[in-house]
Amino acid sequence: MALTKASLESVDVGSAPIDRYRELMGPEGWGPFELSMREFADQMRGRTLWNVNSTSRGGGVAELLAALIPYDRGAGIDERWLVIQGSPEFFAITKKIHMLLHGVAPDGSEITAAELRQYEQVMARNATGLLEQIKPDDVVLLHDPQTAGLVAPLSSRGVAVIWRSHVGVDQPNEMVRNAWKFLTPYMNGASAFVFSRRAYVWDGPDGSRIHIIAPCIDPFTTKNRDLAPDEVARILVAGGALRGTDGEPTFLRQDGSKGRVMHRATTSGAPPADARLVVQVSRWDRLKDPIGVAEAFARHIAPKTDAWLVLAGPAVDSVDDDPEQPQVLSDLQAMRDRLRPEVRDRLVVAQLPMHDIEENAAIVNALQRRADVVVQKSLAEGFGLTVAEAMWKARPVVAGRVGGIEDQVEDQKSGILIDDPKDLEAFGSAVVGLLQDREKAGALGREARLRVIREFLAPRHLMQQARLVTSVT
Ligand code: UDP
Repeated sequence: MALTKASLESVDVGSAPIDRYRELMGPEGWGPFELSMREFADQMRGRTLWNVNSTSRGGGVAELLAALIPYDRGAGIDERWLVIQGSPEFFAITKKIHMLLHGVAPDGSEITAAELRQYEQVMARNATGLLEQIKPDDVVLLHDPQTAGLVAPLSSRGVAVIWRSHVGVDQPNEMVRNAWKFLTPYMNGASAFVFSRRAYVWDGPDGSRIHIIAPCIDPFTTKNRDLAPDEVARILVAGGALRGTDGEPTFLRQDGSKGRVMHRATTSGAPPADARLVVQVSRWDRLKDPIGVAEAFARHIAPKTDAWLVLAGPAVDSVDDDPEQPQVLSDLQAMRDRLRPEVRDRLVVAQLPMHDIEENAAIVNALQRRADVVVQKSLAEGFGLTVAEAMWKARPVVAGRVGGIEDQVEDQKSGILIDDPKDLEAFGSAVVGLLQDREKAGALGREARLRVIREFLAPRHLMQQARLVTSVT
């Protein structure tokens, strides 16, 4: 018998004091931020702010929620996070919608009537589960297409719903527009729509309900907090991502306690302790183009430098909302196997352990800090948190001029943008240029960090979201 109600998973992210930002923001920034959070807490007294998405770990949305929710909670707002439950078939459909929204039809087809029914059934079960918990005065933030079908059942009960898209393309094609058409009927009842960039706004919703909020990072998370070079080396050696002498691989957890790297990445080998590294950290997704990065390395970077390439992503057996990742990873490994041994041995595909999300974050942090050049050769990118993370760490970035990456990196000033990310030669030569010119690499990295401090930290986002939520209550 089919289940009629899904029990959504509740993710506990604790709370964090906004005071952490006082010093970084200086008096001019801190005053308005603190006031805005106080007013928001007053406004939300007795109400809960719910976030609903499709996964508690892996990917930018989970990263953003885990970073931001604790600050609202620390400021006195009852904010919570729930994850919808769905079958593998449901996540295959939502992955297809995700690809279509990026203008790519993975199996050549659009959404079928049977898929539509399946999507609606899963949404209905989740809506029933949600409605048991939500009070009429609450506000619900729904994230991404996976949750679009929840708008109507919640808003028809009088709950204020904000639907947020974290994805988008700069120039929609026919497929993208059809995917919008598929989703818009579900969303009429939303009080507001949020997009990461103006260029991503759909034809559907009326202008007054549209808001633009660019994502951000939090420098105080395990992913982004400062690490000394010897801590970086110890974490990477223990995590199996670098060769070297063993040492105590500790890191600081979000709650202030000490963590220790206990699990190793699944890799094809690890670079030596003194290797120069080019690093891309991403889910195993075609739009991140790991195979393109590997090809550019083999053809245009490896022959001219002694650098190693590390392509790092989550252990695929840990990913439950994206059925495509194992295939992309195995295509990448097959491509690697075909390379000449002298190139192949310098190309490391690392599946990072996901047993403990903070251990994973510490390894990503260390890898990004250890990188001589961070690359993000995405073919499409909603925002690209990995770019902001690398910039915060003062790394020189080479990235595709796509989506939100273009908002972050000012070409030749705070990183390098490749106009056509499919141009492997241009990409390769930008990376080689930075490996050869350490001064330029250093200058781009320093400027990148300043840019993140000015534009892409959590307080800006928290204030924008507070204004938005207040406006719909
Ligand atoms: N990430 C991670 N571990 C991994 C791979 C990725 O923590 O093994 C994180 C990465 O550091 C970033 C997020 O996942 O914070 C990816 O966000 P981004 O916006 O770059 O891409 P998305 O996955 O949302 O398309």
